[in-house]
Amino acid sequence: MDKVIKHLNSILKFESKYYNRKFTISKDVCEDENLFESLVKDVMVCTKCNLHTTVKNKVFGMGPRNPKLMIIGEAPGADEDKEGLPFVGRAGEKLTKMLEYININREEVFITNLLKCRPPQNADPLPEQISSCLPFLQKQVELLKPKIILTLGRYAASIVTGNGSLRMLDYIEKDSISIFGIPVISTYHPAVLLHSKGEKLENIRIQIANDLKRLKSRMERI
Ligand code: SF4
Repeated sequence: MDKVIKHLNSILKFESKYYNRKFTISKDVCEDENLFESLVKDVMVCTKCNLHTTVKNKVFGMGPRNPKLMIIGEAPGADEDKEGLPFVGRAGEKLTKMLEYININREEVFITNLLKCRPPQNADPLPEQISSCLPFLQKQVELLKPKIILTLGRYAASIVTGNGSLRMLDYIEKDSISIFGIPVISTYHPAVLLHSKGEKLENIRIQIANDLKRLKSRMERI
């Protein structure tokens, strides 16, 4: 229980510092805060896959309850593992800029990952790790009830397509895609902006911009 309280407090402390305003967990912003806290606890004590043996801090996710937009990334990296919070490193800065591009404040969004523990050396998530952790994500979606989900990178997108293929989404009727009954838009993981160069980087930027505009347009219709 101490670990859960410590984690919740670290989220609140970070949110206060990052967004320069005070956050409190109160019952009027979540339909069932007890279930939410119980889910945090379940994640903190989870030993369902081998990643629990190497993780420093599990990353549950952060953001408002009942958000319009929920973002699902791949897995925590080194900075996230250290802080216990999602997207706090350089990729997180890129994500913040991506949201600003479509005039969305990060504080309005709930941000989490497919995996709650960091794979050592940022290895690709293994199928058994994803299947072990997916029920937590499903429960988060059920409790948070976002109106739309943005997935980042091919592993997060793979829970939609079932085959890890991100760009395949271009060929599917966009409005029919959903995860756990919530409509989904997919784009690249912001980390790719840190590791790509030249023409490839430019092409990725264009595709991300198009995906984000599609997200914004969809959000305006919800
Ligand atoms: S990655 Fe998920 S399933 Fe694996 S130990 Fe961490 S919380 Fe549990």
